[in-house]
Amino acid sequence: MEATLPAAIGFLAEVRQDDARPLEPVFAARGSLARWHERTADRSLHTALVHSGAPDEAYARDRGRTLVLAGELYNQDDLIGLLPGRVLPGSDAALVVALFDVYGVHAFRLLNGRFAALLTDRGRAVLATDHAGSVPLYVSVAPGQVLAATEAKALRAAPRGRPVPPGRPLRRRPGTHQVPAGTVLDIEVSTGKCAAHRTWTPPLARRILPEDEAIDTVRRTLERAVRTRTGAGTPLVVLSGGIDSSAVAALAAGRSAGPIDTVSMGTDEADEFPQARVVARHIGSVHREITVPTADLLRGLPRAVWAAECLDPDVVEYLLPLTALYLRLGGTGEGGDTGRRILTGYGADIPLGGMHRENRLPRLDTAVCHDMDTFDGLNEMTPTLSSVAGHWSTHPYWDRDVLDVLVSLEAGLKRRHGRDKWVLRAALGDVLPHEVVVRPKLGVHEGSGTTSSFSRLLADAGVPQDRVHQAKRLVVQRIFDQVVVDGRHPDEVSVDAVVDLVAGRPEHDARPVPR
Ligand code: AMP
Ligand code: MG
Repeated sequence: MEATLPAAIGFLAEVRQDDARPLEPVFAARGSLARWHERTADRSLHTALVHSGAPDEAYARDRGRTLVLAGELYNQDDLIGLLPGRVLPGSDAALVVALFDVYGVHAFRLLNGRFAALLTDRGRAVLATDHAGSVPLYVSVAPGQVLAATEAKALRAAPRGRPVPPGRPLRRRPGTHQVPAGTVLDIEVSTGKCAAHRTWTPPLARRILPEDEAIDTVRRTLERAVRTRTGAGTPLVVLSGGIDSSAVAALAAGRSAGPIDTVSMGTDEADEFPQARVVARHIGSVHREITVPTADLLRGLPRAVWAAECLDPDVVEYLLPLTALYLRLGGTGEGGDTGRRILTGYGADIPLGGMHRENRLPRLDTAVCHDMDTFDGLNEMTPTLSSVAGHWSTHPYWDRDVLDVLVSLEAGLKRRHGRDKWVLRAALGDVLPHEVVVRPKLGVHEGSGTTSSFSRLLADAGVPQDRVHQAKRLVVQRIFDQVVVDGRHPDEVSVDAVVDLVAGRPEHDARPVPR
């Protein structure tokens, strides 16, 4: 049977020339843990994998090379076509290692996927992220050792590493670096010398297409992205009732033999339940509503920061309600503990300028460029948000082909006839009710009341209005320091205590925040 989840959803891998003991694997991602050790004449490879039942499929060995892969590919059919005459690779990891034999590091330019990878090749360690860096990858490099992990906290006890440009140093752990999105780092293990190759960058040129052709291209690429993400079981879509997630749900339902599952979250303060119900009824999904008390939602902040390893307070406000939802989903297994494959509508606004609420095209394109230049390192798309609850989430709008199409459309196709995200709305007009197609944007942080309740928490603690945003930044930073840098478990961190500390230090609040 085809697996529901990728073979591995996270790893810690250590390539060493010495005999030092491997690090203790520490992950927020929940799954079975498999450890594995391989030794050759000049190095050893220790790996700890978070997996979903088939850890062997996350490894591949070919001609002296070993590859460890967390995540999955979405263009296997195209890739297999590049390997004529070969035995068909049985897993995504086997496919990548076979491609590496033909293309070397450039193999990673061929992949459309959601993954992080480490490959050993004689004296080299090669690290790769997908085009969007959607599975975070961190590394610590010193002469004779390359330590890499999909969560920064797993490298907490690593010896201090050297700079690996263009890696981004982790706050308060300058020896640990995050591998940028769409990048391969090719590292000589004995010296730690590193060469970097970009495998993807956001397109800057804009395509001019007739309306019909643009609509058709968006529809086809999005359909394919939904299809390649759907897997064997019943798809589950986290549904707000906005155009982005409703489009994903409608396309998933359109290709599913039976009803799909949809789920909506709200709080005791705000929800989008009526909007989501309209869509669920229209597509005939088995729909659930989950209400999270606001106090519990805010108490979940440490868990969201622990999962996302994110310092940006705005992004944390988007991710907090989603983490709360994932933690309350339950599973499909007898014991209710089998992980689900979750599709979301996350991220459509970035290439389409959907957050940009004005009519001027130059500003719209500036906003798209800015957002595409600054998404990296925020970990907005990290699968760990859902894998803390044993699930796997994937985002069709950040499929490499969908993203290439959406970013590159000229701004006039994104805002047209007075509507934002016009081309997407037009592309889904035949599968959704009109009221959904024209529904204005409401962010998850707004629809769940997360932004307002977090603001109120700080105001109630005495933070003046004009300092609330800065105070949020400090709260997130302090939580990050505890659960990522200092390695504490999120259950040990009290949000109230952190808020009191931040609220009680106005002079501290006024200072710029060090990164
Ligand atoms: P948004 O900020 O509205 O673009 O939300 C991003 C994605 O999160 C959506 O496309 C949905 O997949 C999901 N989402 C947002 N709000 C909810 C909600 N209230 N319940 C379930 N999923 C949601
Ligand atoms: Mg929304």
